[in-house]
Amino acid sequence: MNAPAGGASRDRRAGREPGRSLRVAVLEGDGIGPEVTAQAVAVLEAVLGMAGAHVDFARAPVGGAALDLTGLPLPAETLDVCLSADAVLLGAVGGPRWEGLPPGRVPEAGLLGLRKAMGLYANVRPVTCYPAIAGSSPLRPERVSGADLVIFRELGGGLYYGLPRYTEDLPGGGERAVDTLVYTTDEIRRLARLAFETALRRRRQVVSVDKANVLDSSRLWRRTVRELASDYPGLTVEHAYVDSFAMALVSRPTRFDVIVTGNMFGDILSDLAACIAGSLGMLASASLGSAGGLYEPVHGSAPDIAGRDAANPLGAILSAAMMCDLSLELPKAAAAVRGAVGLALEAGYRTCDIASGAGGERVVGTRSMGQAVLRCLAEAWKCGPNSAKEAG
Ligand code: NAD
Repeated sequence: MNAPAGGASRDRRAGREPGRSLRVAVLEGDGIGPEVTAQAVAVLEAVLGMAGAHVDFARAPVGGAALDLTGLPLPAETLDVCLSADAVLLGAVGGPRWEGLPPGRVPEAGLLGLRKAMGLYANVRPVTCYPAIAGSSPLRPERVSGADLVIFRELGGGLYYGLPRYTEDLPGGGERAVDTLVYTTDEIRRLARLAFETALRRRRQVVSVDKANVLDSSRLWRRTVRELASDYPGLTVEHAYVDSFAMALVSRPTRFDVIVTGNMFGDILSDLAACIAGSLGMLASASLGSAGGLYEPVHGSAPDIAGRDAANPLGAILSAAMMCDLSLELPKAAAAVRGAVGLALEAGYRTCDIASGAGGERVVGTRSMGQAVLRCLAEAWKCGPNSAKEAG
């Protein structure tokens, strides 16, 4: 994808002395997190070696793994490692083992706390249909072929952080639970600006998704995005209600370029968009904000397949590519990783989630898929940033 404007992570990079080692924090997390992260780190190490960059990897526990070790989902030491790194690579957190704990002690609280502490407010989720696996989508191949869009999900506010939130007993029996959906003009504007700047380097089409026919917070969202759009006359900015947009996204995915939306709508729409890419295991993300960047696949810890060498590592590997682009300023490395993923898919390598049963497919496990990408890396590096092998 074309890189977003970089947010405040750019400020940190500006202070980096030439020749100094890069520091990448690696938080494997739970379930399939360690399995997919291992492959992403191997690919990252290899491509950074090709780029002549020296990188120190610092591993730290988060989520359920951290709860088991320390009693906290985000130990202070882990946060320190992340805040002093140029970028953070995360696997996934959560799982049935830790369900039922108090809200602040669940694995997911570690991830929400990390996003908050790093000041991450924009979650960037590219959705590309790699041509070789268009037939793996649950949607018809002719619908998804050529799809190349990016979702900007607001990450620091909205329903997942709004206060008050509580559950209380009702006097007559039963309970009452409250969550709060709150947005400010500034929160909306900083995300929309990042989306608009990215759209200027893409196909210049933006859809802002809300529920302005029902929600006050969405009416503020729409008004704020509309006002900002007047500063960007070169862009086409449309507005859509989330319910009808969900249908449009899967009916006509090639129509969309840049999508900007709130925290919960973005969470749901990007999982839906996994249909376009073929599988949740294909989707990468970058979270950007005031201190560095956090890179993680969109999927969760997938407890149903954890420990079986069955997870698709490409979402994690493509997250590492986004890190090269957005935090490490190594666009050739990013293009090489994306190109290598395309080559591995063209060679027929498939994890179970993207196998269609067509002839010529080689169905492999997590490790073998990572190795296939590694083997394709040298060729992709030679092709350079404009490699025709890159998807989209
Ligand atoms: P999930 O994304 O873990 O899994 C959904 C489905 O997709 C499962 O069938 C799973 O097997 C499949 N899947 C996911 N990633 C895959 C991959 N790389 N390769 C192949 N198949 C893959 O979502 P869930 O089941 O709703 O949640 C499981 C746990 O993960 C929960 O504890 C949840 O809170 C947590 N979670 C964490 C994150 C995160 O760390 N960012 C995100 C979402 C969910």
